Formats: sequence, structure tokens, C-alpha cells
Amino acid sequence: MENTVAQRIEALSKVQQIDSELDAIRKLRGDLPEEVQDLEDEIVRFETRIDNLNADLGSTEANIEQLKGKIQDFKKRITYLEEQQMNVRNNREFDAINKEMEMLDLDIQVAQKKIRDNEADGKVKRDKIVNTKEALEERRKDLQAKKAELDEIMAESEVDEQKLLKQRDKATKHLDDRLLRSYNKIRENSSNGLAVVSVKRGACGGCFATVPPQRQADIREKKKLIVCEHCGRVLTEVEVIEEVEAAPKRRSTRGRKATAKKK
Ligand SMILES: [Zn+2]
Repeated sequence: MENTVAQRIEALSKVQQIDSELDAIRKLRGDLPEEVQDLEDEIVRFETRIDNLNADLGSTEANIEQLKGKIQDFKKRITYLEEQQMNVRNNREFDAINKEMEMLDLDIQVAQKKIRDNEADGKVKRDKIVNTKEALEERRKDLQAKKAELDEIMAESEVDEQKLLKQRDKATKHLDDRLLRSYNKIRENSSNGLAVVSVKRGACGGCFATVPPQRQADIREKKKLIVCEHCGRVLTEVEVIEEVEAAPKRRSTRGRKATAKKK
């Protein structure tokens, strides 16, 4: 079904009013949702790091165990050779056994050196694990505090937000896609999140550029959609002076942050 211009203007005003309230809610939450998300990501990174370090440390410790086993084997062989050496028949056999024992001593020294290297390596990894765990604990505490803060704000505002989003869905049904797209676009580019404004004291309520009397008359007529020639915002009505005096100036310039962090 076709909506009249007046209905579309009314729907636009409604959507704008809802969006401004949503902006206010999001502004209240501030950077908290992003900060919570960042902390959660960082915690996952730290946990992964600790897991990897533990796995590394595990293989370092396995290396050490393996080397210790080898040394045991070398030592057993040396004990065996010492006994053999007692029963040699000539110098040649004695020297051959001696040579093998010397080689085994060398093997033991090499293995011991590798154990020391692995132990040093293990210490570095253990220190890293301790440091990462400390950092992780700190982030967890931060997260807990930030999450509690956010939960509190969310509890206060989530119901309102859901209600507003439902109302918005309903209100946008009166707008065709093209109009809604351009509304969204103007809002994105607007520092205060306002795409739909009224004329106040003869000026656009968004950019304060003067709106010529003829255009003001067109706006009052509601026969077609009138936009501000200067900023492109949709002008829905011309406020009479008394209303201007009474209207609170809350949303005039302070929406910048809330709009900027929407994305
Ligand atoms: Zn304007």
C-alpha cells in the first residue's frame, strides 16, 4: 500500500525519535562493550599462549628424561666394560675396551650438556608461563569489573532497547527502502545522529542554515518531502516560537560520540 507524504514524514519523525533514544542508550554504555570484547579476546590469546608454552615445556622435559635414560644406559655399559677389562687376554683387547669407555664418557658429557641446555630452556618457558599467568589473572580481574559494570547498565537498558527496536521495525514499515537508505546515510554522516529535524527560528534544526520562507510553507503543507538545501536533512515541521522556547536543547550537539561508535 502507498503511504501519503504526511504519513511518510510522520514515520520518519518516529524513526528518528526512536533512533535518538537508541543512541542515548548506546552512549550510556560507552566503550564498555568493546572493552569487554577486547579483554575477552586478549584472555583467549593468553590462554592459548600458556597452552603452547606448557606443550613446549612438556617436550623439553621429555627430552631431559630421554637424555637421562641414555646416560643410565652409557653408565651400565661402562660398568659392564670395566668388568670385561678384568678378563682381557692381551693389551690390544684392553686398549679397545678403554677406547670404547672413553667414547662413552664423551657421550655422557654431551648428553649432560644437552640436559643443561634443556633445563635452561625449560626455565625460560616456566618463567614465561608464570608471567603470562599473572597477566592473564589481571585481565580476568579487569574483565570481571568491566563486565559487572556493563551488566548493570545492560540490565537497566536492554529491555528499553528491545522495545525500541521493535517499535523501529514497525515504524520503518511505512518507509520504502530508498527513503530508509537515504535516512540511514544522512544519519551516519551526521555528527549528532539527526537525519530528521524541524525548522527552528527559521533555520534547519540540524545545521542551522536558514530555510527560506517558501520552503517553510512547503514543509507546513506536507505535500512533498522537503530536505535542507544545506545539509540534506529531512525537514518535517516548522516549530512555532513558543515551542522553541520550551523545547529542551538536549540533542542539539551532543550526539557525536554515540553516532561515531555505532559501527
Ligand atoms: Zn540543514
